[in-house]
Amino acid sequence: MVSFRTVTKRYGELVVLDALNLDVAEGEMVTVIGPSGSGKTTVLRMLMTLETINGGVIYVDGKPLTHMPRNGRLVRADSRHLRQMRSNIGMCFQHFNLFPHMTALENCMEGPVHVLGIPKAEARARSEELLDMVGMADKRDQHPSRLSGGQQQRVAIARALAMRPKVMLFDEVTSALDPEVIGEVTNVIRRLVAEHNLTMLMVTHQMGFAKDISDRVCFFYGGRIEEQGAPDELFGNPQKERTQQFLSAVK
Ligand code: ATP
Repeated sequence: MVSFRTVTKRYGELVVLDALNLDVAEGEMVTVIGPSGSGKTTVLRMLMTLETINGGVIYVDGKPLTHMPRNGRLVRADSRHLRQMRSNIGMCFQHFNLFPHMTALENCMEGPVHVLGIPKAEARARSEELLDMVGMADKRDQHPSRLSGGQQQRVAIARALAMRPKVMLFDEVTSALDPEVIGEVTNVIRRLVAEHNLTMLMVTHQMGFAKDISDRVCFFYGGRIEEQGAPDELFGNPQKERTQQFLSAVK
């Protein structure tokens, strides 16, 4: 569903992604872990087309994201192509980025109505269903300022799902939360993994959560995948020295 093919991203002299190859299959939950600055968030930002690419190609659902076919070859994608491709992808950030002047329900309905052109009644029904799924049905008429961090993050997840993405990205969604509410957000993501066949890519510093929830874990180092595998293998028996060092430091 998602393929990075020798993707390079540079900021000036700094190489952040170094000819990265990464694949996420349909319905797979892949978690990215690694030291600060290893390029984890950049991977998600590239998929959201928030960054330009310096080399390689990214594919989503079999189609090039960063490029488009023209006269039998791939050329840089224009803004229309990027917008179209981006609609396949939903993202939840560390800071929830909800619209402050809208209620939880209005936050969820905004994209479906104004971007996808779905009739209001239909968008409302779907948004109510999603808010129910994340345990926020009773707070649907509250504004974000009246919600706790965990509740805002659950609304943000419902809002992203309302756009019916093929791929969901989670960027350290529990990092800004108080410890006592982390569980309510991780439980929502657990449910998504268990009950929905969504393709998901997650960056997290919570190793226990990564271990529980992922089909595969990728350890990033210096803009490349240093080691990857099933959670039991990677956490239980890491092969590379850098992985071993990182895991023993974060334990
Ligand atoms: P963390 O765990 O600390 O969030 P990360 O692995 O997610 O780190 P990235 O956010 O992907 O790391 O950043 C990778 C590198 O790119 C870092 O060295 C960062 O300073 C650099 N970087 C990111 N964005 C920019 C930018 N807009 N301009 C210049 N350098 C940047």
